Amino acid sequence: MELEARVATYELAETFVISRDSSDESESVVAELTHEGQTGYGEGTPIERYYEDGASAVEFLHECRGALGGDPFALDDILGALPATPHTQAARAALDHALHDLCGKLTGLPVWRLLGLHRTGPPTCWTVWLGDPDDMARRAEAAAPRFQRLKLKLGGRDGLDLERVRAVRAVTELPLQVDVNEYWSVDEALEALPELAGLGVEYCEQPLPEGDAGGARVKAASPIPIYVDEDCHTLADVAASAERAHGINIKLSKSGGIREAVRMAHAARALGLGVMLGCMTESGLGISAGAQIASLCDFVDLDGNLLLLEDPWPGVEFRDGVQLAPNKPGLGVEPVVSLAAERSDGRS
Ligand SMILES: [Mg+2]
Repeated sequence: MELEARVATYELAETFVISRDSSDESESVVAELTHEGQTGYGEGTPIERYYEDGASAVEFLHECRGALGGDPFALDDILGALPATPHTQAARAALDHALHDLCGKLTGLPVWRLLGLHRTGPPTCWTVWLGDPDDMARRAEAAAPRFQRLKLKLGGRDGLDLERVRAVRAVTELPLQVDVNEYWSVDEALEALPELAGLGVEYCEQPLPEGDAGGARVKAASPIPIYVDEDCHTLADVAASAERAHGINIKLSKSGGIREAVRMAHAARALGLGVMLGCMTESGLGISAGAQIASLCDFVDLDGNLLLLEDPWPGVEFRDGVQLAPNKPGLGVEPVVSLAAERSDGRS
């Protein structure tokens, strides 16, 4: 198998703000894996929070070339033989997704069919990024007609987080969830969570910093479910997550791809945990990989490609609030500009 890797940069439709940073563009790594005349594509999104970036992801994928062998269906062998370099989860995801896309194309089956799953998962939430309460309410109201649920980014550290939720609650009846991105202390969480319950918020994602010693205490006291995101990356984190949360947020760029994500979903079920599927700001190539396994999850946050000014990998259909996996072989998405043409234009 031949492996190529490159960094792709996408312009966002609007500046995206969360507690720890704001951004106008997003960087992904795209893997292209060719075998017997077919090419599989996969995307992963490295983020600074996890000490990853596009350049190091490409470098890692180049190092993986010697470990691929000649059988794209030997996923355990291939993924098990990759170098043990840390902080390479997004690159691993790009390769895992390219392998799944390739296997689907070689067999003529969509990945969700190859995995024995359903094509349709739960509706995606729409992320209302962090801003002033009035501004968040205005953006929530504008998005509400197209979506079946909203996720509010909190963690402003300005005493206004509950005001943000009240302002949004006043303009929409949609189910709400919140994501604090690690920005509350234990005391702030213990004070805010009963208020969130009173406002009808369904669950709270990552209130505390990763590994915070107060996790079990907050879980025990919270009247609404706690989901962990920054605390839970791979299968190895799932059991410990049960001590501090009622559910986990699986993201393919954290897990290292589809194969590990499926293991995590089943492990979470065995522990009685809820399962959420999240995403980064990424194109339809990465979102399609998520959509293939969305039916394993209770809650879905797959709005990453909808945040882009233009999705360079169309194919995932947004229908009645659901990000529907394509009914085509592999991941079922195609680049707007053919990659070969882009290269011959010297634009890559
Ligand atoms: Mg999150």
